[in-house]
Amino acid sequence: MPDAPFSSALVARLADARRVAVLTGAGVSAESGVPTFRDPDGIWARMRPEELASVDGFLANPDLVQAWYAHRRETVGRVTPNAGHDALARLEAAVEARGGTFLVATQNVDGLHQRAGSRSVVELHGSLARQFCIACGTDADGETDGTCVACGGRVRPGVVWFGEALPPEAWDAAENAASRADVFLTVGTSAVVYPAAGLPLVAKRAGAYVAEVNPVPSDIAGALDEVVVGTSGAVLPALVDAVEAVWAGGGTNSADGR
Ligand code: NAD
Ligand code: ZN
Repeated sequence: MPDAPFSSALVARLADARRVAVLTGAGVSAESGVPTFRDPDGIWARMRPEELASVDGFLANPDLVQAWYAHRRETVGRVTPNAGHDALARLEAAVEARGGTFLVATQNVDGLHQRAGSRSVVELHGSLARQFCIACGTDADGETDGTCVACGGRVRPGVVWFGEALPPEAWDAAENAASRADVFLTVGTSAVVYPAAGLPLVAKRAGAYVAEVNPVPSDIAGALDEVVVGTSGAVLPALVDAVEAVWAGGGTNSADGR
């Protein structure tokens, strides 16, 4: 692989890692056909976030917000995981088979990591698959008419909106994995929505080798060990292939000498 976009140091660190953690954002699903939020053709270029992704926006216009999430659910139902999701599932299986631990902390609500076969996934921003009553918290099933069967309250999407706290168990698992990781990958996220965007920095401070995969370096790229410029669907399969080549005894397969 003479023109690998990543360093041999990253390949070697991954091949030796006992603990790997990954943060993903909308970019990892872009090659599946799910629009991202902040790219020029992204969803929020056309929609106002505060109208669609806040409790106040929901209360002001529940039908619009529900229709919007129904549209997103439908989009996600039509698409399939891409080579980037598949590569992360493959890396997880290989790291765990070698006795290590692996966690994907995703900001995505599309369920594509799980559909690709990733097993250790925490959903920092909830899931499109979940809906719950805004009054009593009871989960609603997919057939809901928007009214809670338990109390008659309004049913809302089970995603984390602006101004809301992250699910504490998901956050604790992600922060814990970041603070113990030997290698941390941040993939397809613009890293501007905190606290999720802080996870790569938690990992960096704790001594992990931290690499970003993104066609456009993010706001935190300068604070990381390495920025791999490219799409997740192209970079991640090549990266996992290179790591597997090391395990197979082929040496670090990168000719750049880094
Ligand atoms: P984002 O749209 O902010 O960033 C997407 C990133 O993916 C960009 O950095 C882009 O360069 C990169 N990218 C694009 N194509 C790629 C590819 N093929 N491979 C790899 N990377 C690619 O999305 P985000 O970082 O996930 O946003 C974080 C969170 O912000 C989201 O989970 C969402 O909850 C939240 N958000 C919410 C709203 C809202 O109104 N609810 C609006 C924006 C963001
Ligand atoms: Zn209820």
